[in-house]
Amino acid sequence: MSIASDIQLRKAAVVIIGDEVLLGETLDSNSGEICRQLLANGILVGNITTVSDSKKAIVAAIQYAMQEHNIIITSGGLGPTLDDKTRDAMAELLNLPLIEHVEALEWIQNYFKKEAKRPMNQLNNKQALVPKGSQPIQNEVGTAPAIWTEFKEKIIVNLPGVPSELQHALENTIMPKLQKQVGDGYFRFVYVYTENIPESELAVKLQDFEESLPEHYSLAYLPNKRKVKLRLSGLAKNQDELQDNLKKLSEDLMKIVPSASIIPFENWEEKLASLHKENSFTISSAESFTSGRIANLITTVSGSSMYLKGALVAYDKKVKTDILGISENLINQKGVVNEEVAKNMAINCRKMFSTDFAVSTTGVAGSEKDEHGADPKTAYIAVATPTETKIFFFEKPGLSRKDFTETLAQKGIELLHNSIKDYFQKNNNHENSEE
Ligand code: ATP
Repeated sequence: MSIASDIQLRKAAVVIIGDEVLLGETLDSNSGEICRQLLANGILVGNITTVSDSKKAIVAAIQYAMQEHNIIITSGGLGPTLDDKTRDAMAELLNLPLIEHVEALEWIQNYFKKEAKRPMNQLNNKQALVPKGSQPIQNEVGTAPAIWTEFKEKIIVNLPGVPSELQHALENTIMPKLQKQVGDGYFRFVYVYTENIPESELAVKLQDFEESLPEHYSLAYLPNKRKVKLRLSGLAKNQDELQDNLKKLSEDLMKIVPSASIIPFENWEEKLASLHKENSFTISSAESFTSGRIANLITTVSGSSMYLKGALVAYDKKVKTDILGISENLINQKGVVNEEVAKNMAINCRKMFSTDFAVSTTGVAGSEKDEHGADPKTAYIAVATPTETKIFFFEKPGLSRKDFTETLAQKGIELLHNSIKDYFQKNNNHENSEE
């Protein structure tokens, strides 16, 4: 199957079902979760619709979504009560009867026995009903099984509305199953930062470039005061090809807008997870200005609990001295943004969490010098390994506080990843040469 035709299969739509969302009682977080998880697997969402708990509205919304999209994910309306209409709507859409699924009934009974620890209500039997030919998917953290249906070359997945149940089902069963069906896919982007060029002027300069972008690549303008952040994104079946294309396109773009600086996007937290599959190790972080963002990004990858042991947000000076054991004298003399503090933060963090590797950050994210004269938008990142500690210095004057923190948190994971990789390469070579 060619990339293009494969990518065509990756168009998804989301249907959010629930009066509570339309009444403004519940803020819809499920569509964001669905979009993020699909995107991480290279599936783009082209449409989100919110409808009431009405069978007619649900059928109409799914039919509409099916016109342009191959994957339709719904959220809500799978509960046991009368206002839960998703099952009935699916039966009507498919023109098939609802059938009690024996295994699904057992899942629900077992859930009540083991997890809920209360008697099962007769109404819950309803949750074992699925349209004839559809497949129930076990809900490990709630009662309502999800429903998987293949119909007219489309995949329709009905998920429970409770956010934790939806998130769990998506991550653990639906995404792996979808990936099997539509193959691997990747969505990646790079940010290119420009300064002192108004958005409209940029758009004129970049018109030809934009029009000549290959299919499934796009450029977005994200203006903020005198800076315009450009997001160049692409969707492809092959990850390396995608990275190469994005690199080349961003270089072309920078020739047209010479003042631009580029911040490539690579998913270092995923790379860290892959590295952990090849080598066993544990990690920790001690973070000042990134305040836990490194650990937060690492934990977005499932299975990260196998290697991330902990993180310390060492934002205040007292946390650096009292908890992390950085010398008060050193900080009084040189401040907190310097090589030595970064180095000791990483070394002490590694000891404190008893991990093989540790990363630390200390820097000035604001727009003023700190009290010891460290320049704004400068930072040190250190990585401690079992054999050495490496320290890196960064200066990113053009970035906003948020972008500075985000960029350097990603950099921290990249440096941690590369240091771990180097360590194992050296040690494996050493072992091999001794054999
Ligand atoms: P259950 O079987 O657990 O009742 P359900 O599929 O019937 O699940 P709903 O009854 O529609 O789901 O919603 C259950 C709860 O989940 C609601 O009380 C609401 O607070 C929350 N919820 C529903 N939809 C959303 C949404 N789109 N975003 C965030 N929360 C939601």
